Amino acid sequence: MDLLTLSKVCASEQEAEVFLRERGILKSFTECPYCGNPHFGKVRRNSFKCFKCKREWSVRKDSVLENLKIPFIKFVLAIKLFELEVSVLKATKELNLSYNTTHKVFMLIRKYIYKNTSEDDILAGEVEMDESYFGGKRKGKRGRGSQNKIPVFGILERGGKVKVEIVEDVKAETLLKETIKKVKRGSLIYTDKFKSYDGLVVYGFRHERIDHSKRFANGKVYINGIEGFWSYAKGKLLKYHGLSPANFPYYLKELEFRYNNRDKDLFDRILEIIKGGI
Ligand SMILES: [Zn+2]
Repeated sequence: MDLLTLSKVCASEQEAEVFLRERGILKSFTECPYCGNPHFGKVRRNSFKCFKCKREWSVRKDSVLENLKIPFIKFVLAIKLFELEVSVLKATKELNLSYNTTHKVFMLIRKYIYKNTSEDDILAGEVEMDESYFGGKRKGKRGRGSQNKIPVFGILERGGKVKVEIVEDVKAETLLKETIKKVKRGSLIYTDKFKSYDGLVVYGFRHERIDHSKRFANGKVYINGIEGFWSYAKGKLLKYHGLSPANFPYYLKELEFRYNNRDKDLFDRILEIIKGGI
């Protein structure tokens, strides 16, 4: 959604409320949630009242906004600022909210994205695989010397999606298990010479390797795609100094989401995901 359309949505609290209901973020009540009676009306600004049992409920009931006590306009704008990758500090000022509240909204969006990551779609065709280490200052070797770093396994379908997963280690068994889960058998997999990829053919994948020590790319045998994702992700994460390991999975999945939705309207995608619920 572009800024001009957004400014109309945010012309008033009422318009923002209607918008959030249309998008399924606020629940559309057709009956009283307590007694099931279909006759109820709006009372005051933010509540409904049942004509039969006389009970009242908030327009925010059973929505993400139930426990998020910020105006609808600010919620919509916060999503836009998140889409545009505005920092929490800057968004705090733009929204005139406290730092903690802004941080809470941004983390909430990340958690929705994290939960939404679909296990269903399987990558196929030409696929690149690689592992990388995140966090820590030392440039460790694979496996050894990489303490304090978080190993991440990445699979990228050429012209398609990327899937990244935090793994316990980069042993053959671990990587194979992830590959079998995420890649269709028979796909052509490109990797480098790392020995953990030795067994791919045995498990029904076609496999081509590139030797980085000799040349970077050999015709179609390259892993520039997944390596491009690593540098994209590391570049983005640089701005979060001292990102806690506990929050790292959420930031990582946010980057996967941004990459996989690079051709789509992120604002709309985020709304869809929030609508889908955790
Ligand atoms: Zn009722």
